[in-house]
Amino acid sequence: MKGFVVALDGPAGSGKSTTARQCARQLGFHYLDTGAMYRAATLKVIRSGTDPRNRAALGRVLRSTKIDLLWRHGALKVLLCGRDVTREIREPGVNGLVSEVSAIRAVRRMMVVEQRRIARGRNLVCEGRDIGSVVFPEAGLKVFLDCDVSERSRRRDKELRDGGVRTSRRLVTANLVKRDRIDSSRSLAPLRRVPDAVLVDTAMLTIEEQVAVVCFLVRQRLARRKAEG
Ligand code: C5P
Repeated sequence: MKGFVVALDGPAGSGKSTTARQCARQLGFHYLDTGAMYRAATLKVIRSGTDPRNRAALGRVLRSTKIDLLWRHGALKVLLCGRDVTREIREPGVNGLVSEVSAIRAVRRMMVVEQRRIARGRNLVCEGRDIGSVVFPEAGLKVFLDCDVSERSRRRDKELRDGGVRTSRRLVTANLVKRDRIDSSRSLAPLRRVPDAVLVDTAMLTIEEQVAVVCFLVRQRLARRKAEG
């Protein structure tokens, strides 16, 4: 059976995760946070003391890395080689290195294979940077969430504090700007809005409104698909 994929792309802090999670819950779809996969790989690189520029060592580390995402009762749990790292992957050390690690070809190749395997036959809300452009170019719906950087920084700062992570607004902004720059300018699968993605500017929207817009678009596409047989 062919699943329906919702591809949700956008810069860091644009509200992708919250929107994707709530949409998946409301629609009864599976949820895939590809950023969490790149974060878990980065945590492994850090913990193993691997220099990401050493491609041979990196390859060895990646081959022995197992990442599992469990989506249960509306919450995401991230396992790295069987260990729960849901919290650790959001910490500053990972934030600081994840864009460099994600720009490496071997890392992306491995992640994309795994993302397509997870999606097979499923109705799925998938969020990231290259979902509509590279991972699922045939997605049933593509949405690009955007928002100006000061609002993104305010939201991310609050989210981190609410989650008990100690940080400062200045550092949060600097990290968002740095990641946007690397993610948008890398040669492989850069963050970009593809022409067939619906642009949703979230600066003036509440989370409930963002979720309502995306769910409406999904239901519209599903109805169209059904009508077309
Ligand atoms: O979505 P999140 O902010 O957690 O993603 C963390 C990082 O993972 C991004 O800044 C980006 O470098 C990388 N990423 C990526 N491609 C994706 C998802 C995330 O390169 N599809």
